[in-house]
Amino acid sequence: MPPLPIVDGHFFIDNSTLETYTKCRRSYEYNGLRRRILRESRAGLEFGKLLHECLELRYKWEGKTGQSALDTTFDKEVEAKQVDLIEAFFRRTDLPDNMEYRTSAYAQEVILLYNKYYITEPFTVAKLADGTPLVETPFALELGTVDHPSGPVIVMWSGKIDLVSLWDNRDLMHVDHKSSKMGGERFFDDYILDQGQRGYAWALQRIVGQPVSHYVINGLICRKPTQTGTAIEFKRRRLPIDQDSILEWQENTLRLVEDLFRDHARAYFPMETAWCNGKFGACQYKDVCNVGRTGRGVLLYGNLFTDNTWSPLNDPHKTS
Ligand code: SF4
Repeated sequence: MPPLPIVDGHFFIDNSTLETYTKCRRSYEYNGLRRRILRESRAGLEFGKLLHECLELRYKWEGKTGQSALDTTFDKEVEAKQVDLIEAFFRRTDLPDNMEYRTSAYAQEVILLYNKYYITEPFTVAKLADGTPLVETPFALELGTVDHPSGPVIVMWSGKIDLVSLWDNRDLMHVDHKSSKMGGERFFDDYILDQGQRGYAWALQRIVGQPVSHYVINGLICRKPTQTGTAIEFKRRRLPIDQDSILEWQENTLRLVEDLFRDHARAYFPMETAWCNGKFGACQYKDVCNVGRTGRGVLLYGNLFTDNTWSPLNDPHKTS
């Protein structure tokens, strides 16, 4: 079993890693500890990262200039740079070979449509006292202490907040960009009790010293184009959050980390099979879990899988 990533008595945990652990502890072992992911799953991650970078460009510009996409300089200062970014991305030689419909033209269509759809925003981009726009804001904050056989370990909650929006010059809300190939009527259901959103609210309150009462899910639905269906859709919703649920999230997360340390100490992360066939398809480790124990390492470290280089500070949150 690989060691836990504890550095100088600090254990860093982020939303995606925690979510993996809470879905199935075995998938945390493969993904978070052994750091292996299915090669195929990289396409969606890379495409989502590209869309995030385009949105980052736009909202940093809006935060700095106070202008909207209606401004005459938007085409040159934002849209042209977004197109450059997309074209540079597709010139890369290390892209996964299953990008399929996620081409340069498709990515440009998504972003140009997004800019038209949200030509003005109902919020402004929040800024720090020194004027820095709160866009793609990284954080690593002390959450609490958990016992470990080697002594007490400080748990650090880390990640990146996509965007902090200010509504009516008063209410702060973090915005989470979610690129998804699914969408559908129940798109927001998963985010109503989403523990990660409580974690981002907890971090934002620490960063700005103000209470957070809502968060925003900003969905970019990017389906495979078909003759009849709608390939590209935008869905956005503000969801409420209360202070007690943010405090409970902190307690809950520390207890989960305790459990994680316990699983690691006994060198066994149980299989939790309810997620083997999720609503977005089979778990990426299904073939691994489906072979006898002695064959799993061969599959996991073979060509079907690749190293998981995802980082909460460099990459967007994982979505469907
Ligand atoms: S296939 Fe099932 S048991 Fe195996 S890691 Fe995935 S969810 Fe867990």
